[in-house]
Amino acid sequence: MKAAVLSSPGRIADRPLRIEEVPLPTPAAGQILLRVQACGVCRTDLHIVEGELPPLHPALIPGHQIVGEVAGPAPNELLAGTRVGVSWLGGTDGSCWYCRNNFENLCNSPTFTGYSVNGGYAEFAVARSDFVVPLPSALDALQAAPLLCAGIIGFRSLRVAGVEPGERVGLFGFGASAHLAIEVLNAWRCEVYVSTRGASHRQLADSLGAKWVGSEVEKPPVELDRAITFAPSGDVVVTALASLRKGGVVAINAIHLDRMPEFDYDRLLWGERQIRSVANMTRADARDFLKVAVDIGLRPRVTTFALDQVNEALAAIKSDAIDGAAVIIP
Ligand SMILES: [Zn+2]
Ligand SMILES: [Zn+2]
Repeated sequence: MKAAVLSSPGRIADRPLRIEEVPLPTPAAGQILLRVQACGVCRTDLHIVEGELPPLHPALIPGHQIVGEVAGPAPNELLAGTRVGVSWLGGTDGSCWYCRNNFENLCNSPTFTGYSVNGGYAEFAVARSDFVVPLPSALDALQAAPLLCAGIIGFRSLRVAGVEPGERVGLFGFGASAHLAIEVLNAWRCEVYVSTRGASHRQLADSLGAKWVGSEVEKPPVELDRAITFAPSGDVVVTALASLRKGGVVAINAIHLDRMPEFDYDRLLWGERQIRSVANMTRADARDFLKVAVDIGLRPRVTTFALDQVNEALAAIKSDAIDGAAVIIP
């Protein structure tokens, strides 16, 4: 099969992913073989490809928002031809303290799709059958792919921030994840304030119903109940913190930050403000979010790329050139 393989991480401009012919993967016990119909592109893939997350294998196929058709015999209720989604959390040990206490997102021995095991930038992939989610037929493959990380983890960010219906919520950065989160917030009748770089991202936020839109350094004109940051930048976290009312929460939706700058505790954190990180996702987040997505008719804005344009897709994510989400069609 054809696959995009990372052998040595490097700057995306140097095209570190190579398209190669590799053997078809063989499913192990408890796994299923999937024919990949679409695979979403996530900023985490960029951190893996550029080496900000340390390499775990000498050769890796990235990609962790996989829409696939079951292409062989399957255990449990999955049948050949069933369409399923695979996301970042590819498996857990099921036995550590976190797994036993409803925090499987924090498992001590997790499997991450497209990082600790091969992912979906390929014609076929294997996945643990108990970690795939059956996809509602209302969603086509292109629409479903960006929901599987950008969507689910954006949704978890709203939960981690403790968003309640009708609250004032700030979104700092407006890429694939935020453009889906805003639609959930609209359905919850929240007031949404968006600070982001890029005129076209600001325009998209405006067209999706943001109450106020500003540049990445602008503070919203009101005090926020909650803020979610999406940019891999510690400065953005401090800007978000400075926008909160007392008791407000910032949730950081980023697996990697450039650095965390010093900030003034007395002015910014005192008053029971909180900073929380969002790590991975649970299967319950996936199920709950996909149900919400169907209920509110969520339709991601998608730009498609062929498999051999995968480096270009990641470069476009890096430069914020995509409005909405990028999806690879292998
Ligand atoms: Zn565990
Ligand atoms: Zn992701």
